[in-house]
Amino acid sequence: MTQITPQPGIMDIALYESGAAHVDGISNVVKLSSNENPFGPSDQAREAYAKAGYDLHRYPSSDHGALRRALAAHHGLDTDRIICGAGSDEIIAFLCQAYAGPGTEVIHTEHGFAMYKISALAAGATPVEVPERERVTDVDAILAACTDATRLVFLANPNNPTGTMIGDGEVARLAEALPPHVLLVLDGAYAEYVEGYDGGAGLVDARQNVVMTRTFSKLYGLGGLRVGWGYGPKHVIDVLNRVRGPFNLATPALAAAEAALRDTAWTEKCRNENSRLRAWLAEALAEHGVPSDTSTANFILARFASPDQARACDAHLQSQGLIVRQVAGYNLPHCLRITVGDEPSCRRVAHAIGQFMGDAE
Ligand code: PMP
Repeated sequence: MTQITPQPGIMDIALYESGAAHVDGISNVVKLSSNENPFGPSDQAREAYAKAGYDLHRYPSSDHGALRRALAAHHGLDTDRIICGAGSDEIIAFLCQAYAGPGTEVIHTEHGFAMYKISALAAGATPVEVPERERVTDVDAILAACTDATRLVFLANPNNPTGTMIGDGEVARLAEALPPHVLLVLDGAYAEYVEGYDGGAGLVDARQNVVMTRTFSKLYGLGGLRVGWGYGPKHVIDVLNRVRGPFNLATPALAAAEAALRDTAWTEKCRNENSRLRAWLAEALAEHGVPSDTSTANFILARFASPDQARACDAHLQSQGLIVRQVAGYNLPHCLRITVGDEPSCRRVAHAIGQFMGDAE
């Protein structure tokens, strides 16, 4: 019997492991494994979602005009150079589909987001991993890895799972020094957590070789609705729209995202709470002998003495109903990534880690 075989590269894809949502036998579970906003979306977004749910027999807007106009007005961007996707994951996939393929290379950093590699392999391209310097993006290493076959460089800033960030000057230096056949993708999934940061939008406007991706899954608390977007030069957005399905975003998702954007008081509150609790959590863990790099996002990367200790701590946290993320798949086997939750969750996780480290009751 003939067996139908997938395209080369597909079986090299490691299945994406998303954060667990429950622990058997424990009811009071706190999920701190997927960098979700613990406060959820704004009430205005919930209301817009519910209202849009009445017109379900109609196809959604195919050009996402209302959301693109709202995004353009909110961020001071050009509406025509925005594209919306089912999460920024879909924009990442469009980029690989459109620009990478067999015989091409896609660069991602050593501790970079898993979907870059997955989407590159799904497109038939070869992912190329570039080392970081002490968990921080190394621009020179990226430049050194570029070849004639390179098409895309993915760079999350802030980066997941390290939480670290490089400055605008470094990003601009990278964009300027890249060979002309390479597109730089600045992934700003966590950009909203950084006060005054434009996610690279200014650089996109200044250049023809930079694209920015963003999401409503993090600060806007809409991970369950899958809304992301990209901003790039006109020629790139035109290419991406050719691989995009016409109805890739559902009506309630579009409506909720637009409303979420308007509720700036809510996002401000979530951002401030995140900054306050992130600092508190990092300090509490440091006091228990667990250091972390300064995070600019909504999670911290807790560093343990060894992979064994990190795994044992994870098991201890799970036994208390606390779900965090092992990041061995990101070359960080001695670390655990912990989403900054609400205050009771942060206190619970800090207390449990203290217990594990032997200096709390
Ligand atoms: N980029 C980064 C760096 C992420 O951490 C994530 C989510 N974990 C995404 C992109 C994708 O987010 P979404 O598809 O929900 O927009």
